[in-house]
Amino acid sequence: MIVSAAPLSRLALGVQPSPTLEMNRRAAELARLGRDIIPLSLGEPDFHTPEFVKATGMAAIERNFTKYTAADGTADLKEALADKLQRHNSIAVRPEDVVVGGGAKILLVAALLTILDVGDEVIVPAPYWTSYPELITLAGGQPVIIDAEVDDGFKLTPECLRAKIGPRTRALVFNSPVNPTGAVYSRSEIDALASVLREHPDVWVVTDELYEHIYFTDERPASFVAVATDLAGRIITVNGFSKGYCMTGWRLGFAAGPRAVMRPIASLLGQIQGAPSSIAQAAGLAALTGDQTFLEINRQTFRERRDVLVSGLSRIDGLRPHLPDGSFYCFVDCSRWLGSRTARGRLLTSDKDVVDALLNEAEISSVHGAAFGRSPFIRLSFALGVDRIRLGLDRLAKFRETMRASPFS
Ligand code: PMP
Repeated sequence: MIVSAAPLSRLALGVQPSPTLEMNRRAAELARLGRDIIPLSLGEPDFHTPEFVKATGMAAIERNFTKYTAADGTADLKEALADKLQRHNSIAVRPEDVVVGGGAKILLVAALLTILDVGDEVIVPAPYWTSYPELITLAGGQPVIIDAEVDDGFKLTPECLRAKIGPRTRALVFNSPVNPTGAVYSRSEIDALASVLREHPDVWVVTDELYEHIYFTDERPASFVAVATDLAGRIITVNGFSKGYCMTGWRLGFAAGPRAVMRPIASLLGQIQGAPSSIAQAAGLAALTGDQTFLEINRQTFRERRDVLVSGLSRIDGLRPHLPDGSFYCFVDCSRWLGSRTARGRLLTSDKDVVDALLNEAEISSVHGAAFGRSPFIRLSFALGVDRIRLGLDRLAKFRETMRASPFS
């Protein structure tokens, strides 16, 4: 390879690879070498895309629905999305207020690029989805992290929001159910945050509701704008088909909000993305308008897996799992493991050490809490079958036992 003297941009030099994707890559590499890795780092449902959705995607190809569509999505998908947002989320939107894109991620970037100028501050409650600070920085903004405490269920409180919000704050990035903690904000908790935001009329809310279908509370997770309807003029709701509809690889997401911001978002996406996949959009329309029973079946399956994982983890010495109310992740305090040595003599000084040792010595992939802004924790996914979860728990327990029995400890 010839090394070029031509420099890269500051932006490219500063960008970090996603730690979750990086861990999945390492785990996949070991699996290719024949190691039986239990993938507790997974960030996607193991369930396949429903058959009727796949069939619609294939039929779209057969009938040559394979050309560019309108850059902000097909008219019928936007109509179905506006209808879903009104009926399911109690959000008053029209199809013109909806933009479809290639996954929730690019819609988040487009939203941030549309509302931020260089140096604008964006509040992000931690633990946060690993990409938020990176995406805010890419958009020229300045992430302002607020630590949400375990005693508050890892949820941002109005007091903490009030303390950090200021003249340079341009937006709050809100997420419920939360990746990585599984926290779900109640209507009254959202309302309390909205009261603070009412005092700051020039602050946007970008709300990421990608895990809306995966919840274990009695009530469905509320959409931010459904609770704070008076703030609708400055709330951008981002959602997608990846998690609930088991369509991560199709790359399909959407956003909705006031037209004054959705039109620039659409123009921006039209320039940098072009239209989202016509095939994915046809499949997405079927997913939205077809039989929804699989959502409930998957939800119950996730609940059973959650219970197996959390009760197993709480029996392992030194691990303190936080019970998730939604998503398919469990955030686990591993502070009591630090200072010990593994069977192979590795001293555990951080959650990164724990995650590396679990991969190398216990054949479990996981993600370190630092990637989500909180240490020392590890994020374990339950997007895999109960048998595999049990095997993972056995390996974790054995890892702990041999740690104690280590001649170095
Ligand atoms: N938001 C959150 C909270 C996520 O966990 C993810 C995916 N891991 C995304 C957004 C991106 O989703 P998509 O695949 O639709 O781009």
